Amino acid sequence: MAHVINDSCVSCGACAGACPVGAIHPGDGKYEVDAEACIDCGACEGACPTGAITAE
Ligand code: SF4
Ligand code: SF4
Repeated sequence: MAHVINDSCVSCGACAGACPVGAIHPGDGKYEVDAEACIDCGACEGACPTGAITAE
């Protein structure tokens, strides 16, 4: 299980700064979560201004 970022992402980068394990990086047209690194803490969900991050 991991959190995922959908197409509502506007690539602001706020989530990457909020992730305690550095699991979020810029991807192809939006930011992406490294499912192997994500520990499902949920910190990124509250940091996202567009609500683009959800639990898978
Ligand atoms: S749920 Fe936590 S560990 Fe996973 S990407 Fe979001 S902030 Fe990082
Ligand atoms: S905080 Fe939300 S809008 Fe900003 S880069 Fe992360 S997923 Fe995209």
